Amino acid sequence: MAKTEFKAESKRLLELMINSIYSHKEIFLRELMSNASDAIDKIYYRALTDDSLTFDKDQYYIKVTPDKESRTLHISDTGIGMTKDEMEDNLGIIAKSGSLAFKNETELQDGHDIIGQFGVGFYSSFMVADQVTVISKSLDSDEAYKWESEGTDGYSIEPYEKETVGTDIILKIKDNGEEENYDDFLEEQGLKTVIKKYSDFIRYPIKMDVTVQQPKEDEEDEYEEYQEEQTVNNMVPIWKKNKSELTDEDYENFYAEKRYGFDKPLKHIHINVDGQIRYDAILFIPESAPPDYYTADFEKGLELYSSGVLIMNKSADLLPDYFGFVKGMVDSEDLSLNISREMLQHDRQLKTIAKNIKNKIKNNLQTMLKNDRENYEKFYKAFGRQLKFGVYNDFGMNKEDLQDLLMFYSSTEKKLVTLDEYVSRMPKDQTYIYYASGNSYDKIDKLPQTELVADKGYEILYFTEEVDEFAIKMLTNYKEKEFKSVSSSDLDIENEDDNTEEEQENKEVFAAMKEAISDKVKDVKASKRLKSHPVVLASDGEISIEMEKVLQSMPN
Ligand code: ADP
Ligand code: MG
Repeated sequence: MAKTEFKAESKRLLELMINSIYSHKEIFLRELMSNASDAIDKIYYRALTDDSLTFDKDQYYIKVTPDKESRTLHISDTGIGMTKDEMEDNLGIIAKSGSLAFKNETELQDGHDIIGQFGVGFYSSFMVADQVTVISKSLDSDEAYKWESEGTDGYSIEPYEKETVGTDIILKIKDNGEEENYDDFLEEQGLKTVIKKYSDFIRYPIKMDVTVQQPKEDEEDEYEEYQEEQTVNNMVPIWKKNKSELTDEDYENFYAEKRYGFDKPLKHIHINVDGQIRYDAILFIPESAPPDYYTADFEKGLELYSSGVLIMNKSADLLPDYFGFVKGMVDSEDLSLNISREMLQHDRQLKTIAKNIKNKIKNNLQTMLKNDRENYEKFYKAFGRQLKFGVYNDFGMNKEDLQDLLMFYSSTEKKLVTLDEYVSRMPKDQTYIYYASGNSYDKIDKLPQTELVADKGYEILYFTEEVDEFAIKMLTNYKEKEFKSVSSSDLDIENEDDNTEEEQENKEVFAAMKEAISDKVKDVKASKRLKSHPVVLASDGEISIEMEKVLQSMPN
């Protein structure tokens, strides 16, 4: 049988493909599963308009069978198959997608579910195989054909015997010795893992003959092994299920199964959007921060699926940094993907979804704060710092999203309070939101600077983290109330600055003190803010003493 050479462009593309487009070799299996699923979908859509066809779901499946001895991997589907011409067109010319043409031809809105559109997925097989054989019988033809290729030099097509409609793909798995090991793709367990990872939610069963061990009857510690056909994939993803049918436990199991974290999530958010942009998402607010959370090693992101097929493990674009702790996944049919499906175009759809998700997270946190304070405080212990960084970064641009989620320890309430709570109980004569900075609540309690304010009966927010003061500097005010450090020199408290009398009387003493420590302080004044302490440090401008310390310790 004469070999047909690949077109020159195809040749180059194939080389590129084998070597670089995909970063993980295992994704060839995802591509082949998606193609098989597309092929079954095509029969399904045909049956919708063709009365002579019935679609009996049980008849349609994908089967994966490894054979170690011959180092081959067989992948069969009962999909629509390919005619000889289609083999030429779809497998002979790289970047030609029969599935895209199908989508364009059928005006069916539902045709959206078909995954293929770039016409390169099939070639990823050559990343793991020396030789690829495709035997296919089309629904529209009585003859079957065999397509075969060993990679870049071309392919052959010849008539072949095949009883049933569908496609069998046989991969001769590479044997490169120790260097690059492909043996996992011949092992039951290895294949199962990859199928679960990428193709768990393909809507048709992916079957495998699995070895099962069972204790022998009447004999202890003796096992018998046998092969059993099992469906490896879940098929209906949890995010496509009806919320009312799902329990908290279902979501927790999903969280654990996906290894989003080892904790139990505090809250799940299940979103189904069916509008201009369609997507489903399940998001989790974790209970505790992973050990690397506040380090540069941490990578935020959500899993991204296109029609049930995993295309990205961590899509960072879906989450703002300040909600980087959120775990979960998004599935959409409407995303435009680039050829590798591993790098999304920064497109409008993704941005719209991201914005939508951000608002959902914000609203859910606000609801949690309102209705489930205990859990919110748990959350805030783990991730409050992140929210404060969020206010500080981007120069307060995210203020609207975050200010109502902030909490600080209160001098009067002796617990965490929100800014809204603070402002709502401010006495009429109080103009500012007062805060004091220090290493611990205890230390702040003992600060002389807090005395006058506390004496007035005003509430003081305690800032114990460096970021606190930076964050509120970005806010500048909350509900039109400005923030003021208790150590600033004008506290705006009645009579406070009426010091002239004392100062006049003790003129020389103050001058002498100022002289003695002139390298450390700018001025020495009499103050009314002191009750039980003889002396207090105050800062003159915008910046508190604590903040000055932080600024001075910062590398330039
Ligand atoms: P894409 O899926 O993006 O279209 P592929 O390279 O994965 O590109 O596949 C190319 C084309 O080959 C598909 O569009 C489809 O027409 C055809 N094809 C591949 N695998 C199968 C299969 N199992 N059954 C029927 N047709 C297939
Ligand atoms: Mg494909």
